[in-house]
Amino acid sequence: SDLLNTPETDIIRSLFFKGIAVNITQTLDLDTARLVAEELGVAVDTPEAKSAATKETEMLNEEDLDNLVLRPPVVTIMGHVDHGKTTLLDSIRKSKVAQGEAGGITQHIGAYHVDIEHEGKEQQIVFLDTPGHEAFTAMRARGTRVTDIAVLVVAADDGVQPQTKEAISHAKAAEVPLIVAINKVDKPEANPDRIKQELTEQGLVPEDWGGDTTMVPVSALKGENLDELLEMIVLVSEIEELSANPNRTAKGTVIEAHLDRTRGPVATLLVQNGTLRVGDSIVAGSVFGKIRAMVDDRGHKVEAASPSFAVEILGLGEVPEAGDEFDVYLSEKEARAVADANAEIQRDSRLQQAMSSRRVSLSTLSAQAQEGELKELNLILKADVQGSVEAILGSLQQLPQNEVQIRVLLASPGEVTETDVDLAAASGAVIIGFNTTLASGSRQAADNEGVDIRQYNIIYKLLDDIQGAMEGLLDPEE
Ligand code: GDP
Repeated sequence: SDLLNTPETDIIRSLFFKGIAVNITQTLDLDTARLVAEELGVAVDTPEAKSAATKETEMLNEEDLDNLVLRPPVVTIMGHVDHGKTTLLDSIRKSKVAQGEAGGITQHIGAYHVDIEHEGKEQQIVFLDTPGHEAFTAMRARGTRVTDIAVLVVAADDGVQPQTKEAISHAKAAEVPLIVAINKVDKPEANPDRIKQELTEQGLVPEDWGGDTTMVPVSALKGENLDELLEMIVLVSEIEELSANPNRTAKGTVIEAHLDRTRGPVATLLVQNGTLRVGDSIVAGSVFGKIRAMVDDRGHKVEAASPSFAVEILGLGEVPEAGDEFDVYLSEKEARAVADANAEIQRDSRLQQAMSSRRVSLSTLSAQAQEGELKELNLILKADVQGSVEAILGSLQQLPQNEVQIRVLLASPGEVTETDVDLAAASGAVIIGFNTTLASGSRQAADNEGVDIRQYNIIYKLLDDIQGAMEGLLDPEE
């Protein structure tokens, strides 16, 4: 208020109309402060601060545009437990890496790359082999995008299961292209057509049925058809035209980190832009250091790592968090200053989260709609039975969506679970429960993460509220 030369009450009122209720003793986080300042025509300049919403695109900036070269895709494998994620990761690695790397040490650093030949050219694919799902969700919740393509593993003898649906929702929410690996086709009871049918019901229609989802039957255990799967990954990545600028200092994301008793803090960094080099002064989250040594996924010491590759590094002062972004600075001194500033921002934002002043609720969304700022209304729908799910989806589709589009990230029968809450928090969605209850722990999680769960038992009341929110008519106090 002092800096902007504006009465406090004006700031409080302006936030209130954006659906953010604050009182005079509260500290605003950076995004909110920026919102206020920009409305008053004041630009906010904080070079080291990053808002979650813009992180995904921030890996590249304007200077990079003249220097872009294609980079390999970074792939995450997702799917229900026991459907064969680990086996698939292992057998791809074995079939592709062992060949040229006789005696090469198998180094588990959280990511590995394979070389394949495609149309006469050598191509690489990078796989994240951290337990896919969690890494994906946790990083997304923090606004970081590390995955270019998701491979969804579905066991042909088991079919679509809860975590399969979750994985589909997550990929959809993150707008990451998805390829299905129908696994375990070596089993006598395998029925790939049934899997295709079940996936079609989830909105993934196979290409051979006229849809646009690539589905590849494989046997991870026997190593069958893996080449075709890899080929499809390359084809999808070509369409995506993934690129980065290797001629600049590196930036990217921490994939894994731990304290090694003899080597000190060890972190695996995924380079997303630029080239990372031994000797670089880096900041990862609130931690800084100078890179002493780098080892790649095949156990080789390397001097440099280019975009899409992951390396394990030594030299950080402390252990960063998986999902933290890293950046390279000119000097260790500068790196230290930035790390200190980041530590402060982290403390503030934790405090802020604790006060959960940035809840996404149907009424805050309504306030955004009123301001004309709302473009998409993200929903997660849980209902008692499949019939209700379909009835509600059908009715939602009929609501006018000229100004605001409804995006249903997940719709399924069952209780509202903690996972639903996590997905809602990660994607700024509101959870709609119809004739259903909350699983234990979900209320607590929703309160912690500032997620709005709305329960209904009358369809028209549900539709009324959604339509009201889209039109910006919902009362703020609701
Ligand atoms: P994850 O939980 O998804 O990582 O699944 P795992 O990779 O641990 O596999 C679960 C079980 O399925 C293991 O016993 C694997 O040996 C088995 N499995 C994985 N892929 C195949 C396959 O293609 N064919 C057969 N018959 N079994 C498989």
